[in-house]
Amino acid sequence: MALKTKEQYIDSIRDLAHRVFIQGEKTSSVVDHPIARPPAMAMAETYARAEDERSAALFTAQSPITGETVNRFTHIQTGVGDLIDKIRMLREMGRGTACCFQRCAGLDCMNTLYAISYETDEAYGTDYHNRFRDFLKHVQANDLVPAACMTDSKGDRSLPPSRQPDKDQYLRVVERKKGGIVVRGAKLHITGGVNSHEVIVVPTRALREDDSDYAVAFAVPADTKGITFIYGRQPSDTRRLEVDGPDIGNLYYGGCEAMVVFNDVFVPEDRVFLNGEYPMAGKLVELFAAHHRASYGGCKVGVGDVLIGATMGVAEAHGTETAAHVKDKIAEMIHLNETLHSGALAAAGKGYATPSGAYAVDPLLANVCKLNITRFPFEIARLAQDIAGGLLVTMPSLGDRENPDIGPYVKKYLMGREGAESDRRARLLRLIENITMGTGAVSYLTESIHGAGSPQAQKIMITRLSDMETAKSCAYRICGIK
Ligand code: SF4
Ligand code: FE
Repeated sequence: MALKTKEQYIDSIRDLAHRVFIQGEKTSSVVDHPIARPPAMAMAETYARAEDERSAALFTAQSPITGETVNRFTHIQTGVGDLIDKIRMLREMGRGTACCFQRCAGLDCMNTLYAISYETDEAYGTDYHNRFRDFLKHVQANDLVPAACMTDSKGDRSLPPSRQPDKDQYLRVVERKKGGIVVRGAKLHITGGVNSHEVIVVPTRALREDDSDYAVAFAVPADTKGITFIYGRQPSDTRRLEVDGPDIGNLYYGGCEAMVVFNDVFVPEDRVFLNGEYPMAGKLVELFAAHHRASYGGCKVGVGDVLIGATMGVAEAHGTETAAHVKDKIAEMIHLNETLHSGALAAAGKGYATPSGAYAVDPLLANVCKLNITRFPFEIARLAQDIAGGLLVTMPSLGDRENPDIGPYVKKYLMGREGAESDRRARLLRLIENITMGTGAVSYLTESIHGAGSPQAQKIMITRLSDMETAKSCAYRICGIK
């Protein structure tokens, strides 16, 4: 079975015996929990799209590893066309869910480990690439989701891992024994962690010799003994507890993150992909960052499409859609959104083959794309709120419409333009609220700053990757300096 159905995926997470806590309580089924269900449904959509014949061509690929048709979210990209198709697929998913659908972090991490395990073997004579290929075959053949666990808790940011007063502030190997290793630490902000079958762990930064125990990469099933997921809170997440409540804005989907604790977890040798080769950690982080920074020019652009559509719908309900300043603001929103997409497509278009044969995006353009992502969604959200008006945050609950005493007032006075349905206008406002201030803002705004690395990380890479010597020599030649 190379492709799971959406229902098979949901059942597989329901059956998973992983240890998950949500707001202080252990939950037996993530997919049946009112707060955690929408994120699971967003992930499930990656399966539904691969099944649907209208989208299957984009959402599946021919695996050179297994020879079978696999979900593109498990595919190793072996050409520029693959890199571009991934970005296109992520935009489609963003349009369909209006949130982080979580599956791409694992995809980008697998593409990274495929390349880095090969290069580590070449440098150190290890056998990581074959091990990783075996893991990948397992993922592709069973259509699994592996969560990418990268960011450590980091403790005192001024100190490297090995000099932290508490050595567990970065995940590390605490014991090497026959048949495997034992690891301890915690990974933070793990996108889709609770909706994943496997967890892949990689280092979070470049490392020195003293930090060798922190140079570790591996994959284990999410229900491995010693692993605990602690679910992250989001703004307005308890609106999901309102049964069938339309005030949630996004009625079906959401993103999610979790703290993942590894308390002396045993990792069998065949699942270890880096173990002490510290010079490879920085290369791994940079390659993953490039892949994932370009990914944002797919997913966030799709969410931007939804936000622009909702804003236009509200303008029409208000009767302002032909006002010159509204037209100008909508044009500005589209311009910003498409600029984000252009960066990602350009990074993919200038992709290159790594020694392993897997393709990687152009790192400079991927970082430029992501630096824009740290800014433009905020401007798009500001313009959406500008056009939507203050009702966005002062409107009565949509539930008030059903009350026989006040319902008629709410409907009459929130009508907007004659003929516009006031329910439709209110629902669009709630959706804009969700994406710019509610659970959706975690995906669209805060994640746009910090996900895949904060802005300063992109500035460092842009500075390092730019060809300043060529730029200077061009200037010197043209003004006559020898
Ligand atoms: Fe995918 Fe975007 Fe979420 Fe990253 S932020 S996992 S690229 S949807
Ligand atoms: Fe992310």
